[in-house]
Parts: sequence; structure tokens; C-alpha cells
Amino acid sequence: MKVVHTVTGMRALRHDATAQGLTVGFVPTMGALHAGHLSLVREARRRAQLVVVSIFVNPLQFGPNEDYGQYPRTLEKDCALLEPAGADVVFAPSSEEMYPKGATTIVDVEDLGMKLDGGSRPGHFRGVATVVSKLFHIVQPTWAVFGQKDAAQVAVLRRMVHDLNMDLELVVAPIARESDGLALSSRNAYLSVAERRQALVLHRALMAVEQLAATGETRAGQLRQCALQVLATEPAAKLDYLEIVDPDTLDAVAETLHGALVAVAAWFGPTRLIDNLLLPVR
Ligand code: AMP
Repeated sequence: MKVVHTVTGMRALRHDATAQGLTVGFVPTMGALHAGHLSLVREARRRAQLVVVSIFVNPLQFGPNEDYGQYPRTLEKDCALLEPAGADVVFAPSSEEMYPKGATTIVDVEDLGMKLDGGSRPGHFRGVATVVSKLFHIVQPTWAVFGQKDAAQVAVLRRMVHDLNMDLELVVAPIARESDGLALSSRNAYLSVAERRQALVLHRALMAVEQLAATGETRAGQLRQCALQVLATEPAAKLDYLEIVDPDTLDAVAETLHGALVAVAAWFGPTRLIDNLLLPVR
């Protein structure tokens, strides 16, 4: 496994791959890797002949009062996990390498980028779309694998790839969870023992919605009410949003007959967690 820190170094490896006619699978991450990230790497491995993982804590996607400074940076440990998972190349650029002085171009997926997390975190998806677009240009993947965990991000990036005619396929991998249901997240490391227990309410709320939907309930209002009731059982959880939306447009739906995304975000102490559930087409 090669670890490269420069755009030039990454490009050189990509040119070699092109010369050899290799397909490339790409997994963009911010590091502090867990089993969820590794499941994405394995998905890329199943498809591609060369697997590239980027590790970059992207300053552009953090708000001024968010956890950019505090975000865990564990490159050595990450590399030790990535090699057995099947990564061939780790691209870990510095902030200066990705954003040289004077860079002013941004990618903004208007409208979609303001919904769900985009509403709570102004500018977040502009940062995500800009960095992912740059990474796509540098790595030129055949497939790029993202997690369903960040469902709004998937919608924004799908739209970006479509609108900008990017020549690659987005692949979405399911949410990896702890055995008790908590969605794996690098930010789980911030949780105290009590907050970690409180955070399980997110999964409980989504499970309640899934069960109610399985009985044939398709009214989004009823399903939302059901989730809110479960969330209310954990007063320590401060709800950011709970929405039932179309997974592509992120617009609220009244009916879930054609499938829907149930997305939730809540604070547990200083830590904001997200989770979601895709309701199937009935
Ligand atoms: P991050 O490092 O948090 O930016 O995440 C990098 C990628 O891993 C994104 O595509 C995330 O959606 C994905 N990811 C994060 N957590 C999980 C999880 N629990 N299950 C599946 N994918 C995940």
C-alpha cells in the first residue's frame, strides 16, 4: 500500500493505472476510520483493480463553531486498518496542498445543498461538493463509494455528478452499525458513556418507524409522529431535524408509497449525530 501526500504524486499513480488499463475504486474519507469506512473499501475492492482511499479533514465543510480543530486525526492507525481491508493507495494531502493560496473556485449544489444537514450547517455541502469534485479530478475514479449514513450527502453528490457530467459511477454502501444499533461514526468517540446510551434513541426511533411502515402505514405525518414519540423518551437528546423526504430531492413527502428517506439529526451534549432509514417502495 502506497501513501501519498501530494496531488502530483497521486496523479502520477493515476497515470500509471491508466497506462495499465486499470479500473479505479475510490473511497473519500476524513480518517478516524471505523468498520463503516472499511466496508466501503471492501465494496471498492470488489469492483476495482486499484483501490484509492483519501484521508482529508476538509476545512471547507466545517462551520466556524464546529469541530474542525478537534476532529480526530489518526493517519498511522488508519493506514494499519486500510491495508488489510484492501486499499492500494492512501491519498492524504495537507490542507495547503488541497487549497493553495489564492484558490477561489467552489462547487455549490444549489437548493439541494440547503436541505437537511445543509439547513443546519450552512455552507457544509458547498465544502463537501468542492472537495469531492477536486478529489474526483485528481483520482479520476471509475467508481466512488459513499455511505448511506450520510444520505443528504449522497443526494447532493449524485446531483453534482449528474449536473457536471462527471464520468464515474457513485456507489452507495449500507449503514454499518454497532451490535446495539448505533450507527458507526468517527464522532461517536466524542460521546461520554451516558451520551452513548442516550444516542441509541436514534436507532430506536427509526426502528419504530420501520415497524409501523411494515404494518402498511404510508402517511408520512403518522410515521413522523411515531418517531417523535420515541425521541421524546430521551429528554437528553436535542432534536435538530426529523424529516421524511424524497431521497433524491430531499423534499418532504406526504406519502411513503414510493419509498422515502427518514432522516434524523440530534445533539447529545456537544456532539451532533445523524442517522436514517430508507423506506422501501410498497
Ligand atoms: P467521513 O470520514 O465521516 O467523512 O465518512 C467517509 C465515508 O464513510 C462517507 O461516505 C460516509 O457516508 C461513510 N460512512 C461513515 N459512517 C458510516 C457507516 N456507519 N456506515 C457506512 N458508511 C459510513
